Amino acid sequence: MSEQSVRLTKAFVNLQHLTHNMRLLQELVGSRQLWPCIKADAYGHGAIIITRQLKSLGYKTFGVADVEEGMALVQAGIPATYIVLSEALPEHCQALVAHSFEPTISTLNMAEALAREAEKAGKRISVHVKVDTGMGRLGIQPEDVRNFLEQCQAFPALHIRGLMSHFPRADEADKEYSLEQLGRFRRVLEGTQEYGIEVRHIANSAAIFDLPDSYLDVARPGIAIYGLHPSGEIANSRVNALKPVLEWTTRIVFLKEVSAGMGLSYGHAYHTKRPSLIATVPVGYGDGLNRNLSNNCTVLVHGVRCPQVGRITMDLTLLDVTALRGNVQLGDEVVIIGRQGAEEVTADELARKLGTINYEIVTGISHRVPRIPIQLDEKIK
Ligand SMILES: *Cc1c(COP(=O)(O)O)cnc(C)c1O
Repeated sequence: MSEQSVRLTKAFVNLQHLTHNMRLLQELVGSRQLWPCIKADAYGHGAIIITRQLKSLGYKTFGVADVEEGMALVQAGIPATYIVLSEALPEHCQALVAHSFEPTISTLNMAEALAREAEKAGKRISVHVKVDTGMGRLGIQPEDVRNFLEQCQAFPALHIRGLMSHFPRADEADKEYSLEQLGRFRRVLEGTQEYGIEVRHIANSAAIFDLPDSYLDVARPGIAIYGLHPSGEIANSRVNALKPVLEWTTRIVFLKEVSAGMGLSYGHAYHTKRPSLIATVPVGYGDGLNRNLSNNCTVLVHGVRCPQVGRITMDLTLLDVTALRGNVQLGDEVVIIGRQGAEEVTADELARKLGTINYEIVTGISHRVPRIPIQLDEKIK
């Protein structure tokens, strides 16, 4: 188990912060349900750890990307209702039915294949019909939904439990497009009332903060449960109360004094400008520390921002810890993402440097990095 990992590079998963974030989101949506999205290994936080904690808080329904993600959680002994958010193919129907997963569907072909499989198993399968109100990725066009539901009446083993859609632009300051989209979804819901749909859902994290009209029956938060902002454009100041769940750390394994003008790491992409104290840490792009951060990021050592120097390699990275001369030793903790003393490096900071979003930073931390759940701010080093 990860708790026993001897690895020096670790991702700590702060369960108290997760609980705090869920309470905040729940306060925003009131009595509506939240279906946390735990796809992509819970945005890199470790789906087993996250889902266990969320279950202990009373959450029972979770969004996974595909059948395999759901199966991994079932096999880990975490029974729950798993909504499969990405489109599956007929070859997945047997597993979907066997585990009573709830797929999101966009084709009659899938509806029929699922119904056939459910009938064979003597079961009914619940599904959520995806409506493309503007994401342009998956889903049925709004004007075709009624006809689709009508055709599904022919499949008694298929229970259309939900109608869902997804916002492509709810994280932007200008909500005009999202409101238009919500209007389209509402018209679909009004036009399909006689089908007895139980749950209507469209809200993601950004919409939970900034589009209360979109809550409907259920909201599907992802990024916010991990304490990260959906974007820099969220208007609701309560977004600032989120607490980052993940902390990514490593330890110093080597220290050396080098003279000025010394080339370091592959390609000598960095030369020391003065006599320098250089630390080596066992983290690299093989752990998800993006090579494009080479010579372009800082880490925390003893609460001090220290520049990363030279090319980030697969397994090892160099730091200039000259500022800590006489004050730093082998084994000392280095924070890549997280807090140390008064300083903090956020996933957003790394995202900005890479021209990407915080979602990709945390999801990109590789499986080599053990995820260690912590209850308090105490870390097991
Ligand atoms: C991932 C996902 C979400 C959650 O989005 P966040 O922006 O992370 O809150 C919601 N709905 C669907 C369909 C998703 O795939």
